[in-house]
Amino acid sequence: MKFNLTRIAPTPSGFLHLGNAYSFLLTQALAEKTGAKILLRIDDLDRERYRKEYVQDIFDSLDFLEISIDQGPKNLSDFEQEWSQIHRLPLYQNALQKLSDSNQLFACTCSRKKIQSMDSSGYYLGHCLDRKIPLDRAEAAWRINTLTADLIELCAFPDHKIIQPIPLDTSFFIVRKKDQMPSYHLASLVDDQHFEVDFIIRGMDLLSSSLAQSYLSEVIDFKNFKYSTFYHHSILKDRKRKKLSKSEGATSLQHLRKNGKNLSDVLGLIGELMGSPAPISTMNEFKNLLNF
Ligand SMILES: [Zn+2]
Repeated sequence: MKFNLTRIAPTPSGFLHLGNAYSFLLTQALAEKTGAKILLRIDDLDRERYRKEYVQDIFDSLDFLEISIDQGPKNLSDFEQEWSQIHRLPLYQNALQKLSDSNQLFACTCSRKKIQSMDSSGYYLGHCLDRKIPLDRAEAAWRINTLTADLIELCAFPDHKIIQPIPLDTSFFIVRKKDQMPSYHLASLVDDQHFEVDFIIRGMDLLSSSLAQSYLSEVIDFKNFKYSTFYHHSILKDRKRKKLSKSEGATSLQHLRKNGKNLSDVLGLIGELMGSPAPISTMNEFKNLLNF
């Protein structure tokens, strides 16, 4: 299979860790295998958690992992001047406008606390769907009605289909937040459409996002997204079988860099966490473990 463009899409909300390194290196391996170029897309719409040093950490980590990027920002200032999602706000607004004309949106004023108190699952079950709150109400989030969604069909690498409903934890997902900023789902979809990404590689924990975004693309009538191919990789766990998280601790790439480690050392650690029967230290050995 051949593709044109895949992407590495980190969020600058913490220091990157071995789980991110695994995802980036796997993306590079799949890009090589399929002829896809790599776009670096830094998702910085969450302005409360944004910090310049986290963006710098992304560039330092890519260098450290010897990953070359074909498209996207070259450094922190290039990112802020040309590539920040802030510059694409008009594109997101356009998509939101199309959605608001679709009759699939409703306004929701529920607080997180209220949602949790309404159902023990903590999932939003459509409380405001029939409340007819005007979309222009201040302090209202825009949600999409997922009740009318059919089963979602995704093309998955190498050659199978994922056919699933939108999972309950993603029902009525938000497309515009209460502060009127686009949600992650909306911005991610618009960006993938804008840059013409045709191969989306992300963790298994984001499968529900893929399903949600595919549904959103149908409602907005974005044609390309439907023909994208997805690969959802397994999530690297630490030695206690817990998901790795962003921190400055021992599994952070920053920590490894400061301690003079190199790509071979990182591959060795990743191999161990992947349960490799023998130690690994090269990209070829890593590719052999990946099984695709
Ligand atoms: Zn509500």
